[in-house]
Amino acid sequence: MRSASTTSGPRPSGIVLRPEIPLCQTDLPLDWYQEEFKPYAEEYLALPDRKPGTVLPWLDRYAIPAVDHFGPSLLLLAHFYMGGEIVKLVERYGGRIADSYQLALSAARNPDAKHIVESAVHFMAESIALLAREDQSVWITNPKAGCTMEMLAKDWMVAPVAEDLVARYGDELCVIAYMNTGGRVKAIAGRTGGAVCTSSNAHKVVAWALSRGKKVLFVPDHHLGRNTGHKLGLDPARVVQLPDPKQLAAGATIRDTAGGFAALDRAQMILWGSFCGVHTVFRPEHVAYWKRHGWQVLVHPESPLETVVAADGSGSTDYLWRAVMDAKPGDKLAIGTEGHFVRNARQQAAARGVSIAHLTEIPEPGYPAAGCGCATMARNDPPHLAGMLDLLRLGRPPTANRVLAGDVVDESTGRRERLGEAERGELAAQARLSLERMIAIVEGDSQTT
Ligand code: SF4
Repeated sequence: MRSASTTSGPRPSGIVLRPEIPLCQTDLPLDWYQEEFKPYAEEYLALPDRKPGTVLPWLDRYAIPAVDHFGPSLLLLAHFYMGGEIVKLVERYGGRIADSYQLALSAARNPDAKHIVESAVHFMAESIALLAREDQSVWITNPKAGCTMEMLAKDWMVAPVAEDLVARYGDELCVIAYMNTGGRVKAIAGRTGGAVCTSSNAHKVVAWALSRGKKVLFVPDHHLGRNTGHKLGLDPARVVQLPDPKQLAAGATIRDTAGGFAALDRAQMILWGSFCGVHTVFRPEHVAYWKRHGWQVLVHPESPLETVVAADGSGSTDYLWRAVMDAKPGDKLAIGTEGHFVRNARQQAAARGVSIAHLTEIPEPGYPAAGCGCATMARNDPPHLAGMLDLLRLGRPPTANRVLAGDVVDESTGRRERLGEAERGELAAQARLSLERMIAIVEGDSQTT
């Protein structure tokens, strides 16, 4: 078997496939699959168990011919939040596991990769597509894999609010779009002189905007926005949250912000009110429990500010993964992030004598329970990976799985609304501008415009 492209990009995750680790997440019902994927799902669902010794030979039947056929022109990608099964499988076939920043750069950093297959959520695949060249195509293994945070910040919700703010503040207003947004929202950031950011660089990107005298509309995660303001030492009274996105969609306006125009006028950061259901549940009392028992606590900055402040450290997915992989025998880490990630981390760390707990898995009553994984990301499963690779090799990949800049996907049906070529080109240019500004800020180019 030749390897798919591994030329450039994130470091290997360090994940080791061991026979006793079950491979697969909860099975999806057959009627959740697109017609083209049902034959693969039927075979998969009929397998006797989900252990590597069973699943891998089945997946090899589809993945190896595809990897042999395409060679280095095939690049397989997955996010760290995918169930252990997919991250292990993707690396087995020469692919890479990455956080959203590294994923976004994958096409640009691997010009030889002509077919990029991503197992993660849609905005991540679209970010790759935004930076891809004409001769690179991007595919998502399941188009129904959306991000709930992004779903509450669609362009038709954000655009009127951004317009109202620009009408009031003119050029002073710029949009900083977290990577967890669609291309159309990234384009709004580009048009307003703003940039994209990720959880690892939000403080740098917001600091860049503030240093240019800008007032920032931070979209979509209010927790990351507030944590970023705190990290930069901003006065909390000058970090102001807009009304709930559902209220805005139902007709509320910026005038309905708590504190009204006076609060907005003095704000340095104006926060969109979306959040991640997986991270918003982490509480300071969870942190206190683990610290009391001698554990180190690390959380993702999509968690509430008071939880981040209580923890020993916070950072992006890549930061959390490296902390696990660099931990020494005897170390004990409680981690507040997505459940599949923590499960993967626990399996890998156990072999090295490192203990990993999920922040909310507290063996005592009285603590808010949680700890779920990202259910939408988990919609990418082994039958989707097998089917996507096989259909690509056979030359009949489903159109719904092709990802282009500006696509808006209905996450319940997988159907996508696609822009015409001219419109897409214009939108992609604006969105690329916002991504390129982020890259220039992160790579230290002070001439960024
Ligand atoms: S974990 Fe939360 S923010 Fe991340 S993709 Fe899933 S829903 Fe979106």
